[in-house]
Amino acid sequence: MCGIVGYTGHREAYPIVITGLKRLEYRGYDSTGVALLNNGLKVYKKKGRVADLEEAIIGKDLHAHIGIGHTRWATHGEPSDRNAHPHQSKSGKLAMIHNGIIENYAQIKKELVNNGYTFTSDTDTEVLLNFIEDIKENNECNLEEAVRVALKRVTGAYCILLIDEDDPETIIAARKGSPLVIGVGKGEHFLGSDASPMLEYTKEVVYVNDYELAIVKPDELILKNLGNEKIHRLLPS
Ligand code: GLU
Repeated sequence: MCGIVGYTGHREAYPIVITGLKRLEYRGYDSTGVALLNNGLKVYKKKGRVADLEEAIIGKDLHAHIGIGHTRWATHGEPSDRNAHPHQSKSGKLAMIHNGIIENYAQIKKELVNNGYTFTSDTDTEVLLNFIEDIKENNECNLEEAVRVALKRVTGAYCILLIDEDDPETIIAARKGSPLVIGVGKGEHFLGSDASPMLEYTKEVVYVNDYELAIVKPDELILKNLGNEKIHRLLPS
């Protein structure tokens, strides 16, 4: 098991994401990384502990109001900087983190390679990410729709978070078999593998179920199933 954290809102994202990753260290991991979106994507990732990443990126531009972070437990490809998450899509516009295993990644990878894709990591995650981007470009649809189409073809387990340079306030999240909690604040939302990254900010949390997708903006949280139907889930009082 390993961890995911996300934030979109009015605060600085990096301190929330990095502190959240430290709270998830108990789940075990071999590498870690963050993606921040502010006038373009910035991705920092490294084999080793969260503290090693923090040290490696001292002095870098970490300013952003939206960000995602990951602790990886390698299943596809050795623990390395290259295989660490977040991964970036071929266009460079999308960044994604993933907990879990995409069982049919080899077949999808073959199709993408035939369409001219090359890969910079050995992970199943980079395959799913470029599959999503390929669908988005070929179907001329938005990211949310491309994620739904891709996930209908995927077997395995996942919790994924994606950010997109073309939609710089939104995190798209989805899960099957890997946990995902969303914390609701005023003009902000928090995402985590459990509630520990968000507890000091909000007590209002929503648990996302298998085969659900979340469209998360600072002021709005929409849950849908993979059939594009909205799901209405009340916050626990
Ligand atoms: N299967 C992915 C990888 O090997 C994600 C592993 C994880 O759950 O951290 O990179």
